[in-house]
Order: sequence, then structure tokens, then C-alpha cells
Amino acid sequence: MMRLPTFSYCAPDTAEEIAHILAEEGPAAQIVAGGTDLYPNMKRRQVEPKTVVSLARARALRGIEWRDDGSLRLGTSEPLRALERDPRLQSTLPALHQSVLSISTPVLRNMGTIGGNLCLDTRCQYLNQNFEWRRTINHCLKCSGDTCWTAPGSPKCWAVNSSDSVPVMIAMGAKLLLQGAAGRREVTAAEFFDVTDGREWIRRQPDEVMTDIVIPSQEGTRSVYLKLRRRDAYDFPVLGVAARITMDGDLVSDARIVLNAVGPAPVRCTEAEQALIGYRLNAETIGEAGNLSRRGAKPLDNTDYMPNYRKKMVPVFVRRALAALA
Ligand SMILES: Cc1cc2nc3c(=O)[nH]c(=O)nc-3n(C[C@H](O)[C@H](O)[C@H](O)COP(=O)(O)OP(=O)(O)OC[C@H]3O[C@@H](n4cnc5c(N)ncnc54)[C@H](O)[C@@H]3O)c2cc1C
Repeated sequence: MMRLPTFSYCAPDTAEEIAHILAEEGPAAQIVAGGTDLYPNMKRRQVEPKTVVSLARARALRGIEWRDDGSLRLGTSEPLRALERDPRLQSTLPALHQSVLSISTPVLRNMGTIGGNLCLDTRCQYLNQNFEWRRTINHCLKCSGDTCWTAPGSPKCWAVNSSDSVPVMIAMGAKLLLQGAAGRREVTAAEFFDVTDGREWIRRQPDEVMTDIVIPSQEGTRSVYLKLRRRDAYDFPVLGVAARITMDGDLVSDARIVLNAVGPAPVRCTEAEQALIGYRLNAETIGEAGNLSRRGAKPLDNTDYMPNYRKKMVPVFVRRALAALA
């Protein structure tokens, strides 16, 4: 049995207190929300924080609030199960609902939070192993080593962003609010995940806690999330596709297609999007957008399934997503 390392634990009441503790402790502190990602990573000694700062008592980080303008504010500590059960979320934000339903298992969704899912650490087959296993390969670039075993000549870490909700938040134009020791700031989901290295998978300062997610009204849009994984019962994605379109009459006036689990950062398929805007959504345009979506995805050999197969599945899943929207 793998045991947790020793650490001290605190559960402050407010986001400001959390930020001050994070600022004082520096990188030796880690936030825990539901713990469904952090605690397994600690047991494998991928991370060994001296202090774990829990969000459990900070009530301001909870809540699912529908506003008069049709936007939605989510507290980041809201459990995934609560999002899954919200009837309005199910009917008005189908892609988000589908992504949440596909995360791990019902038991884990009782504990796991939406904020934890957005900040989920990147994953790799050379990383998500116990300490003894990793020691036999002299560790890896992301954790105590100096080689990325996925791409040994690369100065970068290629661990994969495997969160199901991240591509959906980008497609919906969500904004994220962060509390730091010096104050609050707002950032778009697209900016927050605009990274190039699996060691720095989110643009978060060490003293910051994500407090709120604001999703603008999605009225007039259609959206869907599809996920490739080996077992449908539960598995991390090896490809996630979020698609959202807006129609003006028969023509597409806006399109967003975002992939995840194909590298350290989500990938926006801008060429595929442009191929749709101003056109009808039919077999021809869907086929063309599918083909163009392949360009941005560079899956490597560090998750389940062969990278060639995952790359081949990109246009297939994009076409399926667009066909569902049509
Ligand atoms: C068996 C298994 C299967 C899984 N399958 C999936 C899957 O299919 N898809 C998927 O997306 N995930 C999956 N997960 C991962 C995990 O369960 C979910 O991503 C969950 O939503 C994580 O939320 P949490 O609250 O438990 O995060 P935690 O473990 O508490 O935290 C995760 C990370 O986010 C940081 N963090 C948490 N909250 C905040 C915040 N408010 N501000 C800043 N940083 C924060 C933590 O410091 C930590 O680094 C799986 C996990 C397991 C164990």
C-alpha cells in the first residue's frame, strides 16, 4: 500500500487567508480541493508539499449561480457531482455537462471539484508511476530528473493536460478569477492554459487560488464534448474534443473547436474553425474542418493508445462532434 508522506494541513476560512498562507510558504505549499488528483500524486511522491492548504472551509468558493444575463458563476470548490445534477446546466451547457459526466467515476465526482479539474496536474506514463519505478529510469524532467523520456532530445516536458473540462471552458469563453496575496485578477480560460511545457501547465502564480469560473451566456450556441478513452466506464481522455458553433440563419457565424489530451496544452483548431464560418454545416464543410483539425495535434507516445491512432482519431472525433451539432 502506498502511504502519504508527512505534511501539515490547514483549512482557512477565506480565499485571502489561503493566498497569504501560499505566499508565506512558497512552493512548499499545495492547494487541495477534493484531493482525488493531489493525494494519489503525493502517494507516488510526484509532489511532496510540506503544507497542504485545504479549500474545504472557504464557503465563498462554493456555489452554482445563474445570473439574470444568462451567465453562470461557479465556485471552484463545487463538487463535479453538483454540476452533473444541475438541471439548467444540463439543458443550457450540454458540452460542460457531458465533460463533467465523463470525469472518473460517480464516487470520485462526489469529492472532485471543478476547480481541481481545471488545475489538474499533467500526466505521463513515465511520471504516474510509484517512486521505485521512476527511480529505475532515473526519474524524468517533470520530477527530479533531467530527461523527458517521451522525447529524450527535448528541453521540454511533454506530460499531457488530461482534464475533460478544460477544452469546454475555452470553447465557451469562460473567465477565471484568481485570488493572490496582493489582490484579485481575472483571466480568460484560453490565456490560463496557454502554455508550452508540461511542468507549467497553468498560468497560476504560487500564491494564487482560483476562486470563481464565469461562463458567459451561451444563448444561440450549440455545443458538444466527445472523449476517446479505452474504457467508457472510467478513464482519462487520450483525446477530448469540445466544439461550439453559433448559427446565423443557415450559416455558421462562429465556431470553436478545442482539443485536449494531445499535449501539454489544449489546442485550438483555428483553421478548421475558419473553414466553417460563413458556410452551411453540411457533410462537405464538416469533412473539410475535420481534415484541417489534424494539423495542430501532435500526440506523443506517453499515454494509452499509439500516437498514430490518436492522431488519426482527431478528424474522426471532430467530424462526429460537428455532425452532432448539425
Ligand atoms: C481513478 C481516477 C480517474 C480519473 N479520471 C479522470 C477523468 O477521466 N478526467 C479528468 O479530467 N480527471 C480524472 N481524474 C482526476 C480527478 O479526479 C479530477 O480531475 C478531479 O476533478 C480533480 O479535482 P479535485 O478537487 O479532486 O482536485 P485536487 O486533487 O484537490 O487538486 C488537483 C490539482 O489542482 C490544484 N487545485 C485544486 N483546486 C484549486 C484551486 N481552486 N485553485 C488553484 N489550484 C487548485 C491542486 O493544488 C492540485 O494541483 C481521475 C482521477 C482518478 C483517481
